[in-house]
Amino acid sequence: MTASTTAQIIDGNALAAQLRADVARRTDALKARGLTPGLAVVLVGDNPASQVYVRNKVKACSDAGLHSVLEKYDASMTEAELLARVEALNNDPSIHGILVQLPLPAHIDANKVIESIAPTKDVDGFHIASAGALMVGQPGFWPCTPYGCMKMLESIGYDLRGKHAVVIGRSNIVGKPMAMMLLQKSATVTMCHSATSDLKAMTLQADVIVAAVGKRNVLTADMVKPGAVVIDVGMNRNDEGKLCGDVDYAGVSQVAGYITPVPGGVGPMTITMLLVNTMESAERDAAARGLV
Ligand code: NAP
Repeated sequence: MTASTTAQIIDGNALAAQLRADVARRTDALKARGLTPGLAVVLVGDNPASQVYVRNKVKACSDAGLHSVLEKYDASMTEAELLARVEALNNDPSIHGILVQLPLPAHIDANKVIESIAPTKDVDGFHIASAGALMVGQPGFWPCTPYGCMKMLESIGYDLRGKHAVVIGRSNIVGKPMAMMLLQKSATVTMCHSATSDLKAMTLQADVIVAAVGKRNVLTADMVKPGAVVIDVGMNRNDEGKLCGDVDYAGVSQVAGYITPVPGGVGPMTITMLLVNTMESAERDAAARGLV
């Protein structure tokens, strides 16, 4: 790729719409065979951001024709009660995906709850079995946000083999699984984090940069090799209170070859990949029941 002056935008809304249409088609095909894919979303407490997230997830499901249930519980719910609910959903044949919205109230051990979800229904991909499956390249569920980033790279026909990918951020839900997915596609991967001594020296070598930090302007134009692909996972607020990413979009888009905007980039892909994972789970169930 040659140096460009204005990056091409990878439109997360448009790609998400395409993928959701595909989910809707596959849902219809499964329904015709007598199986409706189902997602259960469990919310404990009244965190306002979580309320919006779960509403959006449930709406996306029903828009694509999936069955979805939203279970809302008071913040006083005990850990034992929540574990019992998850167990009931594990055993419910109409449910193919279980999502427990995080964060949970402080008196509930989130790890214990996530580990109680049946790995076959772990459509968020947070279970340790899902992380292990990704690590060793076995079938499982990939966490939705990095999975969405991979779909964005796929959408521009980008061949990662032999490319240098730099991931900024090493969380269990974004940075680490992102690095594993890039590695699986034969990229050479560098992981950066808050103790990285010279971030710019790393990013300047990168053909692909994924920023997943949660701080504005972590990546500026002087840190990007001309023509590089820049994926911005960050969700922050600027001084005017508007949503923005980790990347200085105005500057970096003058140097990069491709860039994802915020909003309208990775965000819409995350919920979409939740639908894709739920669909995948339902298709596996249909195959196990001899329906396909
Ligand atoms: P997180 O758990 O807080 O992890 C942030 C990572 O950034 C950590 O690994 C941290 O390093 C690293 N970091 C912090 N300051 C840094 C710096 N100056 N230079 C380099 N690395 C630095 O966050 P997360 O859950 O991965 O989320 C990251 C961002 O993505 C957030 O803005 C979040 O809102 C957003 N997000 C968006 C979506 C979406 O759908 N668009 C989904 C998930 C997350 P240490 O490990 O050393 O502390």
